[in-house]
Amino acid sequence: MFDALSSKISGVFGSLRNRGKLSTGDIENTAAEIRQALLEADVALPVVDQFIEKVRTGSLELLPTLQSGVNQAQAIFELVNKELTEILGGGARRVRYAKNPPTVIMLAGLQGAGKTTLAAKLAKFYKDQGDTPILVASDLQRPNAVKQLQVVGESVGVPVFAPEPGNGVGNPVQVARDGVAFAKSKLHNMVIVDTAGRLGVDEDLMMEASAIRDAINPNEILFVVDAMIGQDAVRTAEAFRDGVGFDGVVLTKLDGDARGGAALSIASLTGRPIMFVSTGEKIADFDIFYPERMASRILGMGDVATLAEQAQKAFNPDTTKKLEEKFASGEDFTLEDFLEQIEAMSKMGNMGKLLGMLPGAGAMKKQIDNFDESEITRTKAIVQSMTPAERRDLKLLNGSRRARIATGSGRAVSDVNKLVEKFTAAQKMMKQLRGGKGPALPPGMALPPGMPLPAMGGAPKMGQMPPKKKSRSGNPAKRALES
Ligand code: GDP
Repeated sequence: MFDALSSKISGVFGSLRNRGKLSTGDIENTAAEIRQALLEADVALPVVDQFIEKVRTGSLELLPTLQSGVNQAQAIFELVNKELTEILGGGARRVRYAKNPPTVIMLAGLQGAGKTTLAAKLAKFYKDQGDTPILVASDLQRPNAVKQLQVVGESVGVPVFAPEPGNGVGNPVQVARDGVAFAKSKLHNMVIVDTAGRLGVDEDLMMEASAIRDAINPNEILFVVDAMIGQDAVRTAEAFRDGVGFDGVVLTKLDGDARGGAALSIASLTGRPIMFVSTGEKIADFDIFYPERMASRILGMGDVATLAEQAQKAFNPDTTKKLEEKFASGEDFTLEDFLEQIEAMSKMGNMGKLLGMLPGAGAMKKQIDNFDESEITRTKAIVQSMTPAERRDLKLLNGSRRARIATGSGRAVSDVNKLVEKFTAAQKMMKQLRGGKGPALPPGMALPPGMPLPAMGGAPKMGQMPPKKKSRSGNPAKRALES
């Protein structure tokens, strides 16, 4: 979502780094360029102005203390990183658990913000951590909201307390109160209460939300807001803060391509942290919000921390260990290993999203958008049509075997040939890596042919400026995308 902003800011620092020793004029120009980029991304004006003033004065103070232009540019970059993290809320904050369970979480926001969807995402997130959440259907206003909650609740295996049919019938305050009492009696340690929104901020909405709040005394009120509604997101947030009050923000629809910067101003303007983000309609499209990781993304440094976490979740430690031993012992990496790797990578989620977390992703937006997810499925089908012996030894693949594999996977023989060719090249590269002629592979990750790899050599470390744009990049992941 912040690709355009990220690419502009990366551009500003790219030219700053090339300028040699910096003058106060350079600082003024840089501040003006960053200001323009933030305003174009729709970040609220008072937030932008406050931010720019801090960066400008901070940079002017730093300037005489550093000798080389490169050090000056890097120090300014770090300052921008720090201030941006600050705007986004500083450190990440987690839900506070109740001393006496259940922990009660109330969701509030406009209709269509994504509360019901989010209720299920939150429930799954906490269930996976060992909590025992229950969902409460207090949105009795929006047509089918109760049914929708029951469906999403079932899809994540979390019970739903829904005594009223909704569609305008029933008392939402009573449902919320009974829901919490029910949760307590059944020893659920967490209750997530979905409430009704309206199309806009109005008196009825605020009264109903406040009445539910008073009835259940939630540990956390989370304000759910659609990041795509621009400056309205800020206005709505302020109205909810003053009318109902909330403890944290959830930004939804961050997968959209609207400018979205307004949503980034919410933490700063309301003084409440952004706690979670929703990045799509599927249950898995949900993340904890880390201000420093978002700042890192916006500055073109990617989000290697999240990528690494997702890899850790998806890659089986036994398989990883086996592969590392294999790699160390000099054995060949085979298509069987490759299959395991593709399966693990598919578990990490949408490839486009994963690639978007790579350093410099803003500059590769077009290639990432054009990345063909189905290529992975096609490649997998070809490998699955091989016998285990063939996967271990590609030399067995004569013409008739290749024809059989092509028929089995519904692909052309030329596709099978291409895969074999790319894989053989990858095997060769693995050998070179092992011989110390190339960058180290990230633990447990082998190189699927034609597939870029995250976080290999050439990527900047956290806190460092992103690489300069070149048509043939030094970053192997980028190179793989370019070819
Ligand atoms: P509610 O009225 O606040 O309960 O909103 P819903 O949960 O019904 O969501 C409204 C619509 O937005 C539904 O079609 C959801 O599938 C969709 N939605 C929710 N979160 C996201 C998201 O993060 N990204 C996208 N693209 N759609 C979302």
